Amino acid sequence: MKKNLFLIIEGKVFKVNYVRTSKVLDSPTAGLIDYMKGVICISTDRPRDAQDETLLHEIIHGILPPSTRDEEKFVEVFAPRLFGVLKTNGLWRSPLESKEGNTVG
Ligand SMILES: [Zn+2]
Repeated sequence: MKKNLFLIIEGKVFKVNYVRTSKVLDSPTAGLIDYMKGVICISTDRPRDAQDETLLHEIIHGILPPSTRDEEKFVEVFAPRLFGVLKTNGLWRSPLESKEGNTVG
């Protein structure tokens, strides 16, 4: 069984849930971040790289100041490009590959 993944974003703990789209997310949604609940959901209906990119997308939402964190167009441009740079240069470690994950508590 996969260990739980927790991320600390701007000092707040977020639990990352990998879910089937049909269970939690609206169908076209690849992911979501709930700031109040401290939860990030990633759809498992897509390939690993797409899931990783979605995770980065949600992280970027999370690091943006509250007044700008809903700027979807910015995040949609920024996330895949940053992911491309990190992945191409070996700077991205997929949490789906890591056996330990970053566990908190
Ligand atoms: Zn988004």
